Amino acid sequence: MLHNDKLEQWDRESFFHPSTHLAEFARGNVAQRVITGGTDSHIEDRDGNRMLDAFAGLYCVNVGYGRTEIAEAIAEQARELAYYHSYVGHGTEASITLAKMVMDRAPDHMSKVYFGMSGSDANETNIKLIWYYNNILGRPEKKKIISRWRGYHGSGLMTGSLTGLELFHKKFDLPLAQVLHTEAPDYFRRANLGQTEPQFVQHCVAELEAMIAREGAGTIAAFIGEPLLGTGGIVPPPEGYWPAIQAVLDKHDILLIADEVVTGFGRLGSMFGSEHYGMKPDLITIAKGLTSAYAPLSGSIVSDKMWRVLEQGTDENGPIGHGWTYSAHPIGAAAGVANLQLIDTLGLIENAGTVGGGLNSKMRAALTDHPQVGDVRGEGMICAVEFVKDKSDRVFYDAADKIGPQIAAKLLEQSSIIARAMPQGDILGFAPPFCLTEREADQIVDATASAVKAVLG
Ligand code: PLP
Repeated sequence: MLHNDKLEQWDRESFFHPSTHLAEFARGNVAQRVITGGTDSHIEDRDGNRMLDAFAGLYCVNVGYGRTEIAEAIAEQARELAYYHSYVGHGTEASITLAKMVMDRAPDHMSKVYFGMSGSDANETNIKLIWYYNNILGRPEKKKIISRWRGYHGSGLMTGSLTGLELFHKKFDLPLAQVLHTEAPDYFRRANLGQTEPQFVQHCVAELEAMIAREGAGTIAAFIGEPLLGTGGIVPPPEGYWPAIQAVLDKHDILLIADEVVTGFGRLGSMFGSEHYGMKPDLITIAKGLTSAYAPLSGSIVSDKMWRVLEQGTDENGPIGHGWTYSAHPIGAAAGVANLQLIDTLGLIENAGTVGGGLNSKMRAALTDHPQVGDVRGEGMICAVEFVKDKSDRVFYDAADKIGPQIAAKLLEQSSIIARAMPQGDILGFAPPFCLTEREADQIVDATASAVKAVLG
């Protein structure tokens, strides 16, 4: 319900929107969208349009919109105690309960969770903890972090550096010197034509080994990766990728950060993507699915192995010099507790696996044979369709053709379905709320096939 007819003017005059073409928005050439409400998998805008949000906001509203259980928990916490800090042993019932719930769900070898506000700040925390860890262990040269091209880990100074997408580096003087990027585990784009998946995995491993040999294992602290590449194109890892990478990291005593901001708490149909793909991380980054974005909250889950060293560090140096005013904010924590309870009560992870699995297989069946569809891929409740100019020679479209954005726009126009034109490549991404019904999944597939036909024939 809106009461202000000056919103458009105020928006264009005053609001600095993230990830937006600023000049085009100011000129009025980028549409202004004011979202006013939502229930389950649908949202509404101020003009009364109702849309199926097949990207769950930014793959974060996992339980769906309009969950009164979470709204009530937030309201109750705000009434009782809107804020207290978590420094020097302070906490609230909500933050302590949420920590316990997270650790009950985390892999067995994990020890504690540190709470932040965003995926970006959680990854900043991770890198600081890793540097601290190696300093305490008396190896101050072991500091470089290896990330992958097409990985996404945030847009801060360090995390923007870890992100392996040019747009996040260009003109920002990034990446920082401590960050290295290795091969993207993107079989469709990066494998040589005719190369098998196992051969491509061997290539990724060889690239990593070569980087470690070139830099010296004694200088490399950690490797960071999303279990399944998200913003870089929604790409599940090639078969056997993670065990092969894990073996290299173990051999060289390099820590592993599993960035589970997208995959944590069920998106792949399993609690964590690291378990899904056989990773053994030393740190796990969580954010979006922790509260289903009903309030901002993130976390860094720390392994037993690292925790022991962090304790040793504080015995030697005093309290850890790391904390945010809003760490473990009670309102975020209350939202997290209600969210994780709701996921369990409604069996939403199971639904993500079954309905998401159906969405993936039906999308594959509907689109694989289209001459301009190069790849249809996904896992659980996440799916992508990648478009190519020429399939047999794998020729990509020019970015200026904006094929991905055109198809996303057509899907919205024809069927009121929101998919995301992924930022790099002509890739249409789907990551609906876990409560998606089979009927809605079928609707998404039919509407996508129709939008593809309308744009590409
Ligand atoms: N890591 C991953 C895998 C993400 O997908 C994102 C955001 O999309 C982030 C980190 C950064 O999270 P935030 O935008 O909350 O800072």
